[in-house]
Amino acid sequence: MQVDVTFPDLTEPTLELRMSRASPGRYSLHDFAKNVYDVHAYGKNGHELETTRPDPYGWNASGHGGAVTVKYKVYGDRVDGTYLAVDTTHAHINMPAALMWAHGLDDRPTTVTFEQPAGMHWQVATQLHRGADALEFTAPNLQYLMDSPVEFGPVTMRQFVVGSRTFRLALHHAGSDADADALAKDAEKIVRQEGTIYGEYPEFEPGYYTFLIDHLPYAEGDGMEHRNSTVITSSSAVGRTQLYDTVAHEFFHCWNVERIRPSGLEPFDFDRANLTDSLWLAEGFTQYYGPLTLQRAGLADLASTAQALTRLVDAVINDPGRRVRSAADMSRMAPFIDGGRVSDRTNWANTILSYYTLGGAIAAALDLALRDRTDSRVSLDDYMRAMWHAYGKPGGSREGYVDRPYTIADAEETLATVSGDRAFAHDFFAKYIEGREVADYPRLLARAGFALRKRHAGRAWLGDLQVQSHDGVRVRTLVAPSWPVYASGLEQDDAVRELDGQRIANENDVSAVVGRHRPGDRIGIAFVDRTGRTKTATITLAENPELEIVPVDSSTEAQKKFRAAWLNPRP
Ligand SMILES: [Zn+2]
Repeated sequence: MQVDVTFPDLTEPTLELRMSRASPGRYSLHDFAKNVYDVHAYGKNGHELETTRPDPYGWNASGHGGAVTVKYKVYGDRVDGTYLAVDTTHAHINMPAALMWAHGLDDRPTTVTFEQPAGMHWQVATQLHRGADALEFTAPNLQYLMDSPVEFGPVTMRQFVVGSRTFRLALHHAGSDADADALAKDAEKIVRQEGTIYGEYPEFEPGYYTFLIDHLPYAEGDGMEHRNSTVITSSSAVGRTQLYDTVAHEFFHCWNVERIRPSGLEPFDFDRANLTDSLWLAEGFTQYYGPLTLQRAGLADLASTAQALTRLVDAVINDPGRRVRSAADMSRMAPFIDGGRVSDRTNWANTILSYYTLGGAIAAALDLALRDRTDSRVSLDDYMRAMWHAYGKPGGSREGYVDRPYTIADAEETLATVSGDRAFAHDFFAKYIEGREVADYPRLLARAGFALRKRHAGRAWLGDLQVQSHDGVRVRTLVAPSWPVYASGLEQDDAVRELDGQRIANENDVSAVVGRHRPGDRIGIAFVDRTGRTKTATITLAENPELEIVPVDSSTEAQKKFRAAWLNPRP
């Protein structure tokens, strides 16, 4: 893609041109400058300027006489929420991956003009403000500009109105008009259910909220929230629940994170990664409301909702990472784990539980605990609404900014107010946000007529050992301290030779041997470690700890009432 950017009325002698290192909504560092080439800068009178490179992400232009036009090409071929994708079917543009900006000009408005590729009749879908014609748009400042992705292509539009708000679906897909109609109808159900949680929708500054949906065989699976839009990409006609869960998650973000904003994320820093301790709330609580909204909207049944809860609760109880890092600490790891490529080895399998999962499980615990304490009069919906009124609704003095981002202390204070019990709020945050404790899920779930039980009760287990069969039977994952096999000294890269006296040739042999035993049985193991030394040990098998949440058929009237107040559609 050819990009020309003009910066007029410059007062500083040197213009510091930048390619972003971060992208709104993504928490990791990026090197968007790597795809930029053929860079030329011109001064006010049109003469080409020598540029210098202060670092890998910038070009400094001096002697410009008061204005600079920089012209460059940028390559991109990845359809997702973070990068740029340009091909004969469309230009799918995430601004930080495509646009050069300059230090010190954050408050300047921008005009963006798209040029139609020869012979094409593409349309632009974006949260940027409309300009003078169909290919011209404006942004009030750099924060808003960089937060505004664009789909420039053969866009199929659908629109619906809820109250005084307009919602648009801009689809780039291979499906039929009927598919588009069906998606719009179901998206409206999701939008309505989430609107009832907050009691209102935000002011969408361009006059509408836009779902930018690329449903293409060559797209990655992704969802990325923005202030007045979201990018949702998917490779194929995935199961409805999967796509709808993303729609529900991303739309929930138009309150939670876009406006109810953790202080560490405000404002966006395009030179380095933002850091926050509150992604358990910003992402985790949003994650919880995805399946909950689908259930309330009639787009998911009880079994799939129980499955979604299982994924959260089983992980928070069994995953080793939760014992190492608190929810606040997990959030601080986001710059490293959110889509960042890691080339060296980490011990994250044993030390990290995603803030999506951990935060989702905390949200479930808090929702149920609030309902439990108040006979369903107070819930997490009330908490989110209170956060909205205190921190989101006040808005920003400049468009795209949030004037009252919250801290963890603010989030705790709001819980004290909503629950009417300061000690409860303090205890909850001390144990589950700053601490590493696990809520009493069996009791909380039982209130709603759900049982939390072992999925493989009575079955022996030596750990979730993963081996690869070629190159011997080599352990290809970290061995967790909580696995029975850990005591044998077995490590990643070691080759398992024998279990219980039987030669092991592949992963099936491992499960076959373990399957013949009962929890508590002791079996021998022989393995070769990375130095080539053969070791033997004895393992005491445990009961498989994997959990599942299932609705109880014999629920009492009280349980049914509690469950209905939680999961039934909001009026
Ligand atoms: Zn999210």
